[in-house]
Amino acid sequence: MKRFDENCLFCKIIKGDIPAKKMYEDDDMLIFCDIDPKAPKHYLCVPKSHFKLLADMTEYESELLRKCLQKIPTLKDELGLNDGYRLVINQGDDAGQTVFHLHIHILSGVKMGWTPA
Ligand code: 5GP
Ligand code: ZN
Repeated sequence: MKRFDENCLFCKIIKGDIPAKKMYEDDDMLIFCDIDPKAPKHYLCVPKSHFKLLADMTEYESELLRKCLQKIPTLKDELGLNDGYRLVINQGDDAGQTVFHLHIHILSGVKMGWTPA
């Protein structure tokens, strides 16, 4: 069952109450451009159920996440990911999670380094 939090920014974007530049949408997920991109291409893939952490995920939500992970590679032409991309899921304070609705960052368009701090 889908969960919804009326105070959550990404739930509001999914509902259409807050605008976003949508790149892909189906019943399970929404992919839109990050408002403050950290790479030339920076999208957020958001499962359409509200949960913060992998640890909070229901069976149903783990199915949504699997669908997200399987969908992203099929969109590589549309999203311009052909030279490679990075997926990031921030979890909790040290990782800098600021929106408490689980999301996959899709970063691309530049040769990336590998320095978390
Ligand atoms: P986190 O820090 O939780 O892993 O990622 C949250 C992301 O959401 C950040 O990269 C931030 O730039 C993005 N973000 C925050 N507010 C908005 C918004 O109103 N619209 C969009 N499109 N992205 C947002
Ligand atoms: Zn939410």
